[in-house]
Amino acid sequence: MKEDKPEKGIRFKLILLITIAVIFVNVMFISVNGTTTQNPTSSVKTTANAAKEQIFYWIDTGEVYHSTPNCSALERTTHTIRSGILSQVPAGRRPCKVCIGDGVKPATTTAPKVTTTTQKPVNTTVPKVNTTIANYKIGNEINQNNALIKVNSVRTAANNGKVIAEKGFKFAYINITVTNNRSKAFVMSSTFGFTMKTPDGKKCDQISITSGALSGTIATKGKLVGEIGFKVPTTATKVTLEITDLASKKISIFDLQFK
Ligand SMILES: [Zn+2]
Repeated sequence: MKEDKPEKGIRFKLILLITIAVIFVNVMFISVNGTTTQNPTSSVKTTANAAKEQIFYWIDTGEVYHSTPNCSALERTTHTIRSGILSQVPAGRRPCKVCIGDGVKPATTTAPKVTTTTQKPVNTTVPKVNTTIANYKIGNEINQNNALIKVNSVRTAANNGKVIAEKGFKFAYINITVTNNRSKAFVMSSTFGFTMKTPDGKKCDQISITSGALSGTIATKGKLVGEIGFKVPTTATKVTLEITDLASKKISIFDLQFK
């Protein structure tokens, strides 16, 4: 059996050659196709599974299905909202335009409640707090933050003691009583301001009075009687006297008449 040996050797060589050839072809195939080629069906399957697992919502009487039970189209339904995966959605239903539509889910907005109660308009006829009170007359007493001011009388004179009024003018004197019902004493000049005006609105110059002037400090529960004087046109028969509380800026106006 000497012939067997070389025969066996040829067979072995042939098998080896075929094996090498097969390996070569395989290597060639892999290098041509590349190892980066992925089976495309796997990702499609994953997406399809996710879509199948998404839960949709519908009501028995509707024609659409929704992606959320909070869809505004479902807001006022009195029907039971049913849910399930896409295959469970009743046949013939189309996707809701509101919550599915072109794929953009709108933010669920709660419609504002319409209030049917009509509010009463704010009364605009509430009077303004008027800091100016007019039309007081001789004999009236005003209360300026617990300081009582009474205008007793008015008189006119051509001279102020030794000073004679310049031509076209006379002096007007107003007799006033001030009672201090405040808790502290106050000084007249820094507490009240006096302004006299003619009917055309012109201010009259105040004059200094040498004796009997309404000036000085008034103690608590104290009282001061005195005069204030102004230079007024000789033709003037009526003027206004504005008494201003310098702290509150409240003004009280007295209408005064004289000859
Ligand atoms: Zn919807």
